[in-house]
Formats: sequence, C-alpha cells, structure tokens
Amino acid sequence: MIEKIKALEVVARSLDPEPASRALLWQQTQDYVEDFLQDLTQSRAYRKADCPQLSELEISEEGKLMSEVLDIMKTEIDHAGINATSGGHLGYIPGGALWVSALGDLLAAVSNRYAGIYYASPGAVLLENQLLRWLCQLVGYPTTAHGNLSSGGSIASLIALTTAREVHQIRSHNVRKSVIYFTAQMHHCLNKSIQIVGLGECICRLIPVNQNFEMDPDLLRKQLDQDVSEGLSPFLIIATAGTTDTGALDPIDEIAEISKEYGTWYHVDAAYGGFFLLVESMKERLKGISKADSIVMDPHKGLFLPFGTGVVLIKDGQALVKAHAHEANYMIDAYGFDEISPADCGPELTKHFRGLRMWFPLHLHGSQAFRACLEEKIFLCRYFHGKIQQLGFEVGPPPALSVTLFRYPSPDRDAFNKALLEAIHHDGRYFMSSTLIGGEIWIRCAVLNFRTHLNEIEGALQMITDCLTSVQLSSNGNG
Ligand SMILES: *Cc1c(COP(=O)(O)O)cnc(C)c1O
Repeated sequence: MIEKIKALEVVARSLDPEPASRALLWQQTQDYVEDFLQDLTQSRAYRKADCPQLSELEISEEGKLMSEVLDIMKTEIDHAGINATSGGHLGYIPGGALWVSALGDLLAAVSNRYAGIYYASPGAVLLENQLLRWLCQLVGYPTTAHGNLSSGGSIASLIALTTAREVHQIRSHNVRKSVIYFTAQMHHCLNKSIQIVGLGECICRLIPVNQNFEMDPDLLRKQLDQDVSEGLSPFLIIATAGTTDTGALDPIDEIAEISKEYGTWYHVDAAYGGFFLLVESMKERLKGISKADSIVMDPHKGLFLPFGTGVVLIKDGQALVKAHAHEANYMIDAYGFDEISPADCGPELTKHFRGLRMWFPLHLHGSQAFRACLEEKIFLCRYFHGKIQQLGFEVGPPPALSVTLFRYPSPDRDAFNKALLEAIHHDGRYFMSSTLIGGEIWIRCAVLNFRTHLNEIEGALQMITDCLTSVQLSSNGNG
C-alpha cells in the first residue's frame, strides 16, 4: 500500500507547482495581462465572433502548456463579443474591473480564507462586515442595519425579497391577497426573484410612469387605496434608483412616505444608481433611499469592480439574519460569536472571499477617486446628450444619471435605427445597445466604465457620424 500511495503522490504533486515552474507560469500570466491592458486603447469594444478552437479543446490526461491555453484565451475568449473592460463599452450597464481588484481576487484565491463563517476566518468576515458598514453609512442606514456581499444584483434581490416575505409572514393563506407594486421599468431580475422566493401568487400592480419613465406616486397611491378598499393587503413596493433601460430615478423619497403610510415593505433597487450617492450633487435626489427597508447595489457596476459582486442592505439587520440563519450539527464549533457571519445572511455557505476585491481598491485609491470617476460619468453623459442632438438625432429625457437614449428621425425610423445599430456593432470601436420604448427602437449610450473619458465620448460621436453616413448612403442607394 505504501508503494501505491507514493506512486500516486508523484502524480498528485503536479497540482502544486514548485517555485521554479510557478515563476514561469507567473511570468506568462503577467505578460498576458500587460499585453491585454496595453492593447485596450486600440482594441475594439465589440467583435462578433465564433469560438471554433475552444469547442475543439479537450481536457487531456497529461495537461497542456500554459502558452497553448493562453493562446485560446486570447483569440477565442478575450477578443470575442463585448469587451467589458474597454472604455468604449457604452452598452447595457457597463462593467469595470479595476486592476487592483484583480490583485485582491488573486490573493483571495491564493490564501483561500473561508469568508462564510466568523469562526473559520474572523479577519475575512470582519473585513466584509466593515465594508457593509461603510455601505450602510453611504445610504444613511442606522448601525442596526446589516447586509451581504453577493455575487450580483440578482442574488442580492433574492435575499431582500426573502427577508420581506419573512417579515410580512407571507404564507399560503395570505399570498393571494398580498399585493406588490412596481413599474414596467423594474429590472426583470426582480420578477425572477418574486417567482423564486415563492411570491409568484401575489397580485402584481404595474404603476404607470411619467414622460421621464419615473413611477407616478399619485397613481401608486390611487392603486393602494383601491386595493385596501377591496380588502387586499399591500405588501411590497419596489422602486428603482437608476433604471437599466433609461437610467430613470423613481421619486424615492415620495414613495418612501407612501410606503410608510400603507405599512408595506419598501425595496429600492439601486443596482445601477446606488453608488452615485458618493457624488455630492446627487445626494439630494437620492436621499430618500435611507427610508427603504432593503436596498440592492452593484459594486460590479458603480464601483467598477469585476463581475461577481452585488450588495444587499437590510435596515433591520436582525430580520435579515432571522430570514436566513439555520443551524447544523456539524457546525456547532462555529456558534457563539457576536460578529454576524455572511452564511447567516443569504443562501451561500461556502463563498468566494469577494470582500477583498472591494477592500483593496477602496483602501488603495481612496473614496475621492470613485467620487470623481462617477461625477465625470454624469457630465460625460450630459455632454453626449447635447452633442448627439447637434448631429440631428432625437433624444430621450435629459439623463438623470448616465444613460442617454437617442435615435435618428428618419421616415422609416425603426428600420433606419436598426440599420444604424448594426453599423455601430459592425464597426465595434465603441459598443452600444438598444431598447424598445413603446415598441420603438432607441439606441442607448450608457456611461459607467471607469476607462470612459472625454476621448472615448468624442470617439463614439465620431463613430456614430461615420455609421450614420454609411447607412444614409446605402439607404439612398436602395431607394
Ligand atoms: C444590473 C441590474 C440588476 C441585476 O443585477 P446583476 O448584478 O446583473 O444580477 C438589477 N437591477 C438593476 C437596476 C440593474 O441595473
């Protein structure tokens, strides 16, 4: 048996490279990263491409060379589709990926601290709880509030709605009389959450929006009155601080007052807009957020972190724990500590130590850099909104945050703007996405990548001018 164990050990040890081969892998990875980052200013923000080699690549018994793997990574992964790290990414809600976050991720993977339970890694849990404290202060929550760093806004929303369901004791006997209020601009991850947490049988009321795509508080109140008079129970109001489609801000403060009056749970989806609280001039417009019972924010949007970081904050921290904590026999050693463990605040037990990717950039860069970067995005979007009109485009409402809608007022408007968007995608220097408003196509310019500066906005305007000319030429040719 000893012989067998020793033979297996020889092969098993290849999983733990010696310093010399570690140095080689390290160097190759570093070279790749430097090439990637230095190439960003020239590389396209979007490239339509298939991945033929990737589908052919099989996992072999002996393993491959790093160079072979990195090669596929470069051609088939990092140069196909949307480049989320590019300052030219102006579609959807752009992501980011701060460089020092990557260092935090690397360290989290190397040391592999168990961030789910205080007993397993007090430092990791304390670090995450301190980040949550900072976030609670940012939104104006009391010290009794708590939250969870999740993988994204969708899972964060799931945690918020689970807590709302438990606090309001929505059960089979009352679910069909419980009413949820939101607008058609609400993010679809909340429709998903409603289903997943067992609220699918609630009555859902779509509250109309005004011309700026903001929830109409008077119509909300009217609907609530009608529901109460019919013997239904208003349960949950969901407002959005920065809608994904148009960047609109619902009247958060006014809705907070209504929610209080009718005794509902008040959830604010600030996945996109929440971090604009860092910008002094936005504080007044967002201030009602402190009155929400639960808030979702996405650091992988507004704090420019790599994908995989969302946040839920619950004003009543104990309610969050009560809705999620469960005990297990094999976990008895972990009980009896004062510090709240992340595992008691959401569906995950074992989880990525994602706090580090947020902790490093906040400590290394300081909050001033984030403040400036976010305020810059607001001004860049306003600048775009003005300039695109000078090029003859119609626009949506003045940007409340950093999204502008635009389209060209051509006779066959939808077909023309569709062709224009295709030309933009074919060009690919800057990436933009589209949406349907009242069934009609609008192109969106969303400014949130930390590498988007004036140079990129000027470049995007130039690209649109070029694409407009080519679409006009070809449509004249066809006509
Ligand atoms: C992005 C977004 C979400 C969903 O968050 P994910 O991180 O993609 O899961 C929810 N709400 C709004 C307003 C968003 O912009």
